[in-house]
Amino acid sequence: MTDPLLSTAAAQESPQQSITPDDIVAQMRTLIDAIKTHNYAYYVLDNPILEDSEYDQLRRSLLELEEEYPDLVQPDSPINQVGDTPLAAFTQVTHDIPMLSLGNVFDYDELHAFMRRINDRLSDAQQNPEYEIELKLDGLAVSLKYAYGRFIQAVTRGDGQTGEDITQNAKTIRNLPLWLADAADIELLEVRGEVLMPKAGFERLNRLAEENDGKTFANPRNAAAGSLRQLDPAIAASRPLAFYCYSVNQGLPENISTQSAALAWLKDIGFTVSAVEVVQNPREAQAYYESVIETRDDLPFEIDGTVIKVNSLALQQQLGFLSREPRWATAYKFPAQTVMTRLHAIEWQVGRTGQITPVGKLEPVKVGGVTVSNVTLHNFGEIQRLDVRAGDMVSVHRAGDVIPKVTRVWHDQRSEDSVPVKLPSTCPVCDSPVVLPEDEALARCTGGLFCPAQQQEALIHFVSRRAMDIDGLGERWLISFFEHGLVKTVADIYNLHNHRDDLITYEKLGEKSVQNIISAIEASKKTTLSRFIYALGIRGVGEGTAQNLAQQFGDLDSLMAADIDTLLQTPDVGAITAELIHEFFRAPHNIEVITALTEAGVHWDKVEQVASEGLPLDGQTWVITGALDSMARDEAKAKLQALGAKVSGSISAKTTALLAGDKAGSKLTKAEKLGVKIVGEEEFLAMLEDS
Ligand code: NAD
Repeated sequence: MTDPLLSTAAAQESPQQSITPDDIVAQMRTLIDAIKTHNYAYYVLDNPILEDSEYDQLRRSLLELEEEYPDLVQPDSPINQVGDTPLAAFTQVTHDIPMLSLGNVFDYDELHAFMRRINDRLSDAQQNPEYEIELKLDGLAVSLKYAYGRFIQAVTRGDGQTGEDITQNAKTIRNLPLWLADAADIELLEVRGEVLMPKAGFERLNRLAEENDGKTFANPRNAAAGSLRQLDPAIAASRPLAFYCYSVNQGLPENISTQSAALAWLKDIGFTVSAVEVVQNPREAQAYYESVIETRDDLPFEIDGTVIKVNSLALQQQLGFLSREPRWATAYKFPAQTVMTRLHAIEWQVGRTGQITPVGKLEPVKVGGVTVSNVTLHNFGEIQRLDVRAGDMVSVHRAGDVIPKVTRVWHDQRSEDSVPVKLPSTCPVCDSPVVLPEDEALARCTGGLFCPAQQQEALIHFVSRRAMDIDGLGERWLISFFEHGLVKTVADIYNLHNHRDDLITYEKLGEKSVQNIISAIEASKKTTLSRFIYALGIRGVGEGTAQNLAQQFGDLDSLMAADIDTLLQTPDVGAITAELIHEFFRAPHNIEVITALTEAGVHWDKVEQVASEGLPLDGQTWVITGALDSMARDEAKAKLQALGAKVSGSISAKTTALLAGDKAGSKLTKAEKLGVKIVGEEEFLAMLEDS
């Protein structure tokens, strides 16, 4: 971790430094200022400017200093503070009983120590009490009051003593009961619980926010808090909030003597409560904690641990409180699932089908209990969306078995000399040009036949039944020949007959099998142009497109020489495929392989092209723009071509007509300017009908 604030403990251990009380106080003051800033951003603005794990580390550093130097503890230390000052915009309400926070433990030893501390305060007869465990719901605490069963008030925790009156907003929470028939005879019932936002609702809300003003919430907890503390109850009503109850603080029926029984009662009278487990010792508590970790991702809402409470309410009262937390309960927190670290570099990897994906190289960091040093950034668009650069501080999230991902970039911590990421112009593996077709997320290497990262996939595709159909050369052999270096590019397949002995030695193939393979390769040399085009494995060129290309161009040389506009004349070749085909035949390495194939004797019969002469639109050039109601643009294009027209991607003086659908843009303006005939959808349909 690079933040100087976080390395306080390390600085203390350094033998060269003689630390004066002034130094300690200065360190404390820096930490206090930082914690206060973060408390305000988190509790008051619901908009943290640091991940929780980092904030917790700041608190731990301050706590360590305070424990080591108790005489130097600053009077305004936030260590024992709960939350932060409530927002003045709401009516302030003083809690009848303070609303505290919870202490926390992070592993079995700390849990054991917590239970030992409790034993230390109990009599011999009270040793090893029963514990009750709940889920630690990751929302915000509220207190609800009911008078004779009727809901009268909801207040946030605030600074623990005073909270905000959010009664109107709380009324919009769908599972919060406004009337408790079974508590109608209780003069004042005060319950507490957590308001949270389920994961699905949170994702929906952030998606909407991204589309609108782009102001998203960092996590469901902040989203719940931000929603509940809206001044306009209509906004709170539109947010998917839920209330889970976990304690009765006033008005509990006298016959209830345990926390688990209190929760059962809350459920009976109409509240939603989460899972409850009663255990007898730390081992059982640990086992339950571990089982919750296993299933946490299946829950509809976020939890950040379990809460372990002494089950007996009488013992709870006897144990009492510290200034910030009860002695009789603790949170047993999960390892952080989101942590901050530095992204040192962005490297580009080439996938088996040529896709170029960026991988972030991280300062190794423990997240969700596992050390992570690489993170996928998916594609160039994601880099732009996140606006991430090498050297940035980022938040990395890892939940369950899900691949870690960057969820946030801390732009305010960016160094001044950082530079925006550029898509590489050539493949990092084979140096062929890289293309990023418009509207496509993934950039691709164009060296399909040559690029080592793609060769294996290219080979398997090349020999497949619908391509060159080299029956005897199964995938297993092919991969093995590839691994032994006998074939690299698809052209090497036609040289295998010169390696008969190697095949026999490496693969322990019998003479007969080798002969079968070689005969199958020989037989495949006579093929069709469309199979050959398909076998090249150009992205976007399936069997149908390969047939159309063969029909359109008639021979390989014309296809290889075609520019994008000419390629676009081919039925079902759109702008993206045209660009990919064009680039494929511009990569010199691909040309080398194709030449080697034809030199090895791969050949095909001349293609019989269907003439367009005599067709109604022969000699005309059409352009299509906008959206058509009755068919997709590709379909309209195919229909025009069937009538003998050429279909081009751009308007020029030579254009015969522009077929203009809905929301036609610049092409329509240009056609009008050039006096090109404009045909609407209705007229087009009538024309099709006539012909
Ligand atoms: P906490 O959330 O760790 O624990 C106390 C709270 O747990 C209670 O107030 C209650 O709301 C909740 N809770 C959930 N389930 C419960 C249950 N079953 N029984 C009882 N209580 C239950 O403590 P906190 O003081 O609210 O907040 C501390 C947390 O806030 C830490 O995780 C800290 O990292 C984070 N924080 C982050 C920043 C930041 O800048 N990122 C700033 C301040 C605080």
